[in-house]
Amino acid sequence: MGNSIKKPMIGTICGAIFVAFMAFLIIVRQVILEDYRNIIETNDKKFAEVLSQNINYNLNRCFDFGSRVANYPGFLHATPEFQKNILRYSLEKEPVYEFLAVVDKDGKPIIYTGENFADVDKNIYEWFKVMRRDAKPDISPAYYSEKTQNLVMTFVQSISENDEIKAAVVGDIDLDSLRDLIHDFNKNNSCRAYLIDKNGTAIAQPEDGGKIYNYRSMAYSTVAKDEEGKVEFNRKGHLKLRESSFMAPQGLTNAIRAAMKGESGDDFFVDDRQRRYFCCFQPIKLPMVQTSWALVIVHPTSEMIDALDKIIYRAMFGGVVIITLIAFAMFKFAEKITAPILEMAAMATRVRNGDLSGQLNIQEKNELGELANNINHMIRAIRANQEKSAESEKRLKITANYDALTGLPNRNHFLIRIRKIIDRSVQARFYGALLFVDADKFKSVNDTYGHAVGDGLLIEFGKRIVDTVGNKEAACRYGGDEFLIFLMGYNKEDTRSICNTLVKKMREPFNIAGNKFHLSASVGVALMPKDAKTLDELMEKADAALYVSKGNGRDQFNFYEEGMVNESKNLGNDF
Ligand code: GH3
Ligand code: MG
Repeated sequence: MGNSIKKPMIGTICGAIFVAFMAFLIIVRQVILEDYRNIIETNDKKFAEVLSQNINYNLNRCFDFGSRVANYPGFLHATPEFQKNILRYSLEKEPVYEFLAVVDKDGKPIIYTGENFADVDKNIYEWFKVMRRDAKPDISPAYYSEKTQNLVMTFVQSISENDEIKAAVVGDIDLDSLRDLIHDFNKNNSCRAYLIDKNGTAIAQPEDGGKIYNYRSMAYSTVAKDEEGKVEFNRKGHLKLRESSFMAPQGLTNAIRAAMKGESGDDFFVDDRQRRYFCCFQPIKLPMVQTSWALVIVHPTSEMIDALDKIIYRAMFGGVVIITLIAFAMFKFAEKITAPILEMAAMATRVRNGDLSGQLNIQEKNELGELANNINHMIRAIRANQEKSAESEKRLKITANYDALTGLPNRNHFLIRIRKIIDRSVQARFYGALLFVDADKFKSVNDTYGHAVGDGLLIEFGKRIVDTVGNKEAACRYGGDEFLIFLMGYNKEDTRSICNTLVKKMREPFNIAGNKFHLSASVGVALMPKDAKTLDELMEKADAALYVSKGNGRDQFNFYEEGMVNESKNLGNDF
């Protein structure tokens, strides 16, 4: 019973605290993540903006230069020596080119710098074949150069006169400066940049390990090497590339493809190892050329989110420990409060069931202690009250049933009791005797020595009766100086002996207030069942016998005998 109130209550309170705490943690986590996401988004978008400007700046230099050569007035008509000088001078000024060449419409080199144009990569020829149809400047996809063993791309700028393509400037642009730019960016920031050309080839990406990734074909190329680690060549003597497919997180591929389509935006994605990333993408509109590249900035957010979650889990664990401690403390506190209340409730039940013997032992110096004190007072007061009323009830009973002077049962009380005894004894045929005892000439004592002496004598008279019969309840003061005695189970002989003793005893002097008085008693006896079977009859007959005793000179006893009633009546008339 003791736990029926407090356990569920504490459980509910602690449960509510726990739920509130968890809700708080979840909200805090969401708010922090939201803020974090906002910061990342803003920063990364800014980074992407700056990075794309840098990339454009780098490329601008190449394209500017290429277009300057192409537009050099009268270039085609200048002397070969002059043309060569222009190209050489350009290379010195702009080391972004591996070489520069001017080719005619058929691809035949007119003039070129440093290297033998015939030795350059086949890609340039391929590219030139595409380019010569169009007057606009353009760039090739990034590819691995056999000659320089670097990632390069080719810039082609047509030389036209009167809108007729006469020749083209071809330059092999080394992408290392761009790659360095992006690798530096990746090294210096917590985000990673991917730069993808229009064909899906990654010009730079974090940790490419010398591989050339293509996000359109989802394959990467590596330079083929034999078992001894030597670079392999094909039958034509070209460097051998080996292609393998790879998997990129879907979110990253989606972003790259969206940027390649000219879209910009951002998204979160998760890789196959459940690491989370923020990803923002945008196209880079290249200067001069009518194409765009894709720039994707990827930000691994797992670390931050994991760190945040670690803090949240710790807070959660700490919260559970604290709530458990709170629950324990509350339980102890509740127990401290309910234990005295339970004790008081038990005491109230005892009092309700009439047991007033107990006292609470609650020593608390607070309201509960005060309450317990008051309950103890209340119990003592009820107990004292009950004792008092029991005492007065007892006194009332004595007053109602006993004679105030002699202390013997009074007439009424005695007769009711004796009548019951006689009724039962008659059925069982018991013996018994009823004695009327009357002080002789008592009136004169009163008259001579006063009422007080009379009272004293009556008290002593009663005592001698009790002494003789041995039981206070066997006698009563019938009225005035007259007493009744009922001897249960006594036959005539036993009764005679008692009567003898009684009469003799009454002859002995009474000592009242230092003075001696002489008195005697007359006794009338009726026997049961011989003389009578009812109380009234017994009384009548004992009374008759008393009258005989009085009439025969007092100081004696007489058994009832046939005819005494009438005699006494006659005598009574005489008195
Ligand atoms: P008898 O021998 O015939 O009995 O003579 P008696 O004088 O005793 O006469 P009776 O028994 O008729 O009178 C009883 C007297 O007892 C009458 C009254 O004065 C006296 N008496 C009755 N009650 C009390 C009492 O309570 N106190 C005192 N002091 N006297 C009482
Ligand atoms: Mg008398």
